[in-house]
This record gives sequence, C-alpha cells and structure tokens, in this order.
Amino acid sequence: MIADSFGRVHDYLRISLTDNCNFRCFYCMPEENYDFTPASRLMKPAEVLALAELFVAQGVKKIRLTGGEPLVRKDAAEIIKGLGKLPVELVMTTNGTRIAEMLPVLIEAGIKTINISLDTLQPEKFFMITRRDVFHQVRSNIELLLQHKIAVKINMVVMKGLNDGEINDFIKWTKHNPIQIRFIEFMPFSGNKWTSNKMFSLQEILHVVEEDFTVLPVESAPHDTAKHFMIPGHEGSFAIISTMTAPFCSTCNRMRLTADGKLKNCLFSDGETDLLTSLRNNEDVLPLIFASIWSKKKELGGQLITHFENLDADAIKNRSMITIGG
Ligand code: SAM
Ligand code: SF4
Repeated sequence: MIADSFGRVHDYLRISLTDNCNFRCFYCMPEENYDFTPASRLMKPAEVLALAELFVAQGVKKIRLTGGEPLVRKDAAEIIKGLGKLPVELVMTTNGTRIAEMLPVLIEAGIKTINISLDTLQPEKFFMITRRDVFHQVRSNIELLLQHKIAVKINMVVMKGLNDGEINDFIKWTKHNPIQIRFIEFMPFSGNKWTSNKMFSLQEILHVVEEDFTVLPVESAPHDTAKHFMIPGHEGSFAIISTMTAPFCSTCNRMRLTADGKLKNCLFSDGETDLLTSLRNNEDVLPLIFASIWSKKKELGGQLITHFENLDADAIKNRSMITIGG
C-alpha cells in the first residue's frame, strides 16, 4: 500500500507516455520553442511495464495513459497491450486524432473509457486553439468509440471570452448521446499564459447551465476529482473539475509518472523523484516511491494556496502541462 503522511492511500497512477504532441494547444504547451524529450530519455516499453508492475503490486487499481499525446508514440500499441494484461482498470486521455487506427489495440487491451479533449464545437475555433485542422476527424473518432460501446468523456477547458459561450452547446450534445462532458477550470502551468481573468469558475459554469437547464447534483465516487451533475431527460451528463476554486485534495489518490520516468506526487508539486535512473541502475525503486508519496503536501503541492485571483502564475515552480502529463 502506498500512503502519504495525511493517511491518503494512493492507488491511481497516471503515466505520461511522451511529452510530444501533434497539437499545439496554447494553454498546455510552453510559450517558447520547446524541444521534445529525446527518445533515449523516455521510458522504454519494458520500463513502463516494469514500473507499472511495481505500483500494481503495491495496490494500484487504476492506470491512466496520458501525455503529451499518448498515441503519437510509435510503440504505443506495445505499451498499451502490455498494460492491458495487468489487473487494473486501464483508461486514457487523448486528443482523439489517432483513435481509428488504434481501435483494435484499445479493444484488445480492454479499455472501456476514454477521455477526449475537445474545447470547442466550432471547427475554426478548434484550429485556433490546437493549430491543427482536424476537428471533423476528432468528432468522427468520438462517434466511432460510441459505436464500439467505449464510454466517452469529453474534457473541455473553459476559458473566459474564448469558449465559455459554448458551455450550453456541449450540454445540448448530452441530450441524445451517452457522453459525459467534463468542464475543467483553466489552470496555470509554466509558460501557458494563464491569468486569473481567463478563468471561468465552477460557480460561473453552473450558473450558465442553470440558465437553460434543470441541473441535479449526482453523488461523487470516493476520490473523484469532479463534481457530477445530471439533467433530467439527457442521456449523457456533465461534471466540473474545479481545481482552482474548490480543489479535491483531501481525498487525492493520484500519482503521476512523467514520460522520462520521474514520479510527481501532485500535479502542482515543485519536486519530483527520478525512478527511471534507479531502475536502469538496477536499484530498488520501491523506497523512492514510498518516500515521494509520504512527502506529499496537503494541498495543491503547497503552491496554489492563495486565492486564485492573487496568484502569480510565473512564480509557480512546475513543469508545463505537456511535460507533466495531464
Ligand atoms: N493530449 C491528450 C489530450 O489532450 O487529451 C492528453 C494530455 S493533455 C495535457 C490532458 C488534459 O489536460 C487535456 O484534457 C487538456 O485539455 C488538459 N489541460 C492541459 N492544459 C491545461 C490547463 N492549463 N488547464 C486545465 N486543463 C489543461
Ligand atoms: Fe497536446 Fe493534449 Fe496538450 Fe493539446 S492538451 S497540446 S493535445 S497534450
């Protein structure tokens, strides 16, 4: 069992497969020209599996693959199939571009739920956010997943003045589709141009939805980082991830392994523990994992403890989102 000093048991591991991506979302990528990590410094498939097995032996029940874009790795299929053999719930967060070609692998690995990032339902705005003209490809891949009965959750980062006007268009999408929309408060990371006035909060999102729909709260599962809601008569549902205005740290069970094999005990931690070098040196990695999680801060990596309106995003010590793995 992996626990921290506040008694939180950690049984959910998020593994970033790469910091590379075929999109250029401005809120995720650092502003300056960014060199992706060379392949030699990334965990190899056997190393991902070896580390994952260690975590699973210590009680990890759920693994999420993320990135960067996890499906741009040439050996993604090998990793996914390997992890699919472990006794865990395997899930993934992806931008949705490579679903069609990877579908047989996803099915073989037993993946039952996929989170797809989609911040707008307007093709031109999609291009503006991602710098890639593939809106229709992503939409058709979402349909493909639904046809194959793989549950789809849509991650939508809400940014004031950019896509907050589309909140209820996303809600309308849930009327006849069994999808869950996850509205995410915009978070600050190294070089992502975050300012508090671009943030659209949980309360603001709820207010917009309640203007047009009857909203009923749904009880959250333990460790859930989202507040869940339903709308009578809608096949789908929605949730809000309010990391900035109402964080969920008290029940946190998450650990993050970066693509270069560093363990982060919190999305906002300023430190990290190098597991990959120890693994490559044939050293015992378990004590490093236990020590890292034991040292986890109570809330938000001990960094975002001020009210979000007073936050100086540039003073936060962290990687960019694309190098952590969202
Ligand atoms: N490439 C994949 C994707 O886009 O789904 C996986 C990695 S991405 C970093 C994971 C999630 O983090 C995405 O849903 C993305 O929208 C979200 N994300 C990235 N930067 C963010 C930010 N600054 N605030 C909130 N969410 C963010
Ligand atoms: Fe790539 Fe996902 Fe970041 Fe967009 S949000 S740049 S798709 S990793």
